[in-house]
Amino acid sequence: MILGVIADDFTGATDVASMLVRAGMRTVQVIGVPQNEAAPEADAVVVALKSRTTPAAQAVSESLAALRWLRAAGARQFYFKYCSTFDSTPAGNIGPVAEALMDALGSDFAIACPAFPENGRTVFRGHLFVGDQLLSDSGMRTHPLTPMTDADLVRVLQAQSRGRVGLVRHDTVAQGADAVRARFDGLRADGVRLAVADAIDNDGLRVLARACADLPLITAGSGVALGLPAVYAERGWLTPDARAAALPPVGGLSAVVSGSCSSATHAQVAHWLASGQPGFKVDVHALAEGRPVAVQALAFAQQHLSDGPVLVYATSAADEVRAVQAALGVEHAGAMVEECLAQVAASLVDAGVRRLVVAGGETSGAVVQALGVRSLRIGATIDPGVPWTQAEGRPLLLALKSGNFGSVDFFAKALAQVA
Ligand code: ADP
Repeated sequence: MILGVIADDFTGATDVASMLVRAGMRTVQVIGVPQNEAAPEADAVVVALKSRTTPAAQAVSESLAALRWLRAAGARQFYFKYCSTFDSTPAGNIGPVAEALMDALGSDFAIACPAFPENGRTVFRGHLFVGDQLLSDSGMRTHPLTPMTDADLVRVLQAQSRGRVGLVRHDTVAQGADAVRARFDGLRADGVRLAVADAIDNDGLRVLARACADLPLITAGSGVALGLPAVYAERGWLTPDARAAALPPVGGLSAVVSGSCSSATHAQVAHWLASGQPGFKVDVHALAEGRPVAVQALAFAQQHLSDGPVLVYATSAADEVRAVQAALGVEHAGAMVEECLAQVAASLVDAGVRRLVVAGGETSGAVVQALGVRSLRIGATIDPGVPWTQAEGRPLLLALKSGNFGSVDFFAKALAQVA
């Protein structure tokens, strides 16, 4: 194993794994920290945690456990992967986890860079843009669990870190890896431990990957990972494998489950319904009253599945979500919806679904847990950041989509790719 990645949610894990596979690294994603299991045969292993929104102390201890397992499995470099929209709160968990991993690795410096230009996430002068908007003007400002209301990542990360946070600006990145390394030295001398790094395109990400190649830890979205395989190949550590993304064909029924309320998912759900495909909306109030919504969803699905794929979704407009959260509490509402969708997904698989698209990071985590999936072999990319995956050892393909990823026709496109 060359690279050991610790990802703070499930779709984030598949996102970074997809990036590595594209560049020829055979990559496996394990769900949670494996217990007494040998490391899979792969160039990179991504440990998918569900630590984005847990209390910081829990996120830290799980991340450290993942680090211990990856170190024992022989990883040469480590990567803490978070969301390309830097999903976090003033309590963490990006800062606390990054600092704890650095302490454990004896590392005195790391970058923080969520940039993913192919998906419109760029960082310029420390400010994160989503497309043409500042993060704080984007749909992320009303995220159910991690509303992002400040685009200044130095300020955002400083609020959740003990050490000083600095900045590696675009003009330095544009000068190449040597200039960036010199900047790292300058920042270290100023007592900075974590530095937000600008990147507005893939060239910038490649420069950062090269500049970080000798650091024990990289903290980033999936973007920086695209530059690592080339660096490893140059060092003779990696022989890129052109078939790294090959998965076996799988028959059976197809379905989509969506618990994401992000803007892109909204558009995808609306597009699916507008194109006349069947969809069942989870009534969260009925769920809160204890009515058997998951059973109703399955009954609906069973009426339609033999004719083609079915969507079950909780995806709702921001004001609807706010009203539910005000009535039930943010965490309770989220957990209740996740549990319902996970139950639906498990019954769909029992009913013969073998190709399942899931929208939403937290939702995917819950679904994968309910399905008892322990590890995923990463396949071909559907849209930037979202690959098909295979539940290891099972005839079951899963596409786990982070909320804001994917084109408007993502659901149909993903299913067509494995038809
Ligand atoms: P994303 O990847 O878009 O952030 P997630 O699945 O990570 O999506 O997060 C969405 C959260 O919102 C989940 O906890 C989900 O259960 C919750 N949720 C989904 N629909 C609703 C709803 N209608 N009301 C309240 N919470 C909801």
